[in-house]
Amino acid sequence: HLDVIESAEPSVQAFLKISADVAREQADAFDALSDEDKAALPELAGVPIAIKDMIVTKGIETTAASRILEGWVPPYDATVIERLKAAHMPLLGKTNLDEFAQGSSTEHSAFHNTNNPWDLDRVPGGSGGGSAAAVAAFEAPLALGTDTGGSIRQPGALTGTVGVKPTYGGVSRYGAIAMASSLDQIGPVSRTVLDSALLQEVIGGNDRRDSTSIPEPVRPVAAAAREGLKGDLKGLKVGLIKELQGEGFQPGVQARFDESVALLKEMGAEVVEVSLPHLEYALGAYYIIMPSEVSSNLARYDGMRYGLRVMPPEDVPQTAANMMAYTREAGFGEEVKRRIILGTYALSAGYYDAWYGSAQKVRTLIIEDFKRAFEQVDVLVSPTSPTTAFRFGEKTEDPMSMYLNDIATIPANLAGVPAMSIPAGLSDDGLPVGFQFIAPQQRDEVMYKPAAALE
Ligand code: GLN
Repeated sequence: HLDVIESAEPSVQAFLKISADVAREQADAFDALSDEDKAALPELAGVPIAIKDMIVTKGIETTAASRILEGWVPPYDATVIERLKAAHMPLLGKTNLDEFAQGSSTEHSAFHNTNNPWDLDRVPGGSGGGSAAAVAAFEAPLALGTDTGGSIRQPGALTGTVGVKPTYGGVSRYGAIAMASSLDQIGPVSRTVLDSALLQEVIGGNDRRDSTSIPEPVRPVAAAAREGLKGDLKGLKVGLIKELQGEGFQPGVQARFDESVALLKEMGAEVVEVSLPHLEYALGAYYIIMPSEVSSNLARYDGMRYGLRVMPPEDVPQTAANMMAYTREAGFGEEVKRRIILGTYALSAGYYDAWYGSAQKVRTLIIEDFKRAFEQVDVLVSPTSPTTAFRFGEKTEDPMSMYLNDIATIPANLAGVPAMSIPAGLSDDGLPVGFQFIAPQQRDEVMYKPAAALE
């Protein structure tokens, strides 16, 4: 994989940092184990992995693709990194993303763009475009991402890879740089459903250091994926989300989606249409709740504790407040600033009830929609993204058009339910299409089975 990285990186640019020495050392340590020790490790032992640069790695620079963290070397590992190390999975490097995971194209990285391996003139999606592109280009067999509103699944759709957002609390967030804490979730990126399942079993399960971690063992997702590979879905009830198809979805995306649904039926699944009436308001609620949490989480980048510090010019009073202002002005990009301002406004005393309070109520209605839907069906499906990969610059001038790309992925984050995207063939433009499964909370295995059957 280090060789592939060397040949593919100049055109793909999936990585912010390649940790070749660390990877080689870990691979050698794995090779040196006795057969008995190797047999006691998870199946993925020895398989290398790329890590979204939103997850902290001890001794390896971690930036969240922001100038404000440039040069920061974490003194500790995220829980997921500890677990990968315990499983003897070598770390290939840190992958590119939209700054602080805010975006849908990786164009908001402070450092460089990542190119979609399917068409280098197009975006790989975002925010985890680097992890998805690295896996799509065979630079890494596996990667980790973070998903707050679709940042694992939408890049999966746009690059023809598998991307999973586990149940909220199913994978520890300790050491994941916080974007919007009530929505953030770490999850797998891979080329097959079974690979993601095996990876979820390595990284998942309870962690005392994350207060929102579910105090249960990781779900049996690999067994479900293996069961799915047999291709028999008799007895499974699948719900087509009425609000997430048709108008606004590219015809080629809708066509591949419809064909995949037909395949599910062929394998014995019963398919019905289900309505989640409040999804209409999901994007609106997300773009109030998410920036509110962003504005609060990003307050810690104050020039004192991490990374960048910019002192005011000499003619400006040399106060801590001014230092903070100059640091944040220089260190944050435009999109991050936009969200900090939006969130600060939504949380301000006079507007709190009107904006944040209303958005939280909408969130509850969406959670209830999902509960009602799962009384009727086992698993829900929709296209992952309304479009295939778009061209660089196409949506950067108009933040709203960028935000709209997440229409199908955001609801699962608001409800905390598990969801995944798998490749569903190519659209008329020759670019990959993603098919999304959504399962009930803490029932991740329910989506792994049909996903493995369909891929
Ligand atoms: N694209 C979405 C956003 O810009 C989701 C980001 C994410 O999941 N980290 O907020």
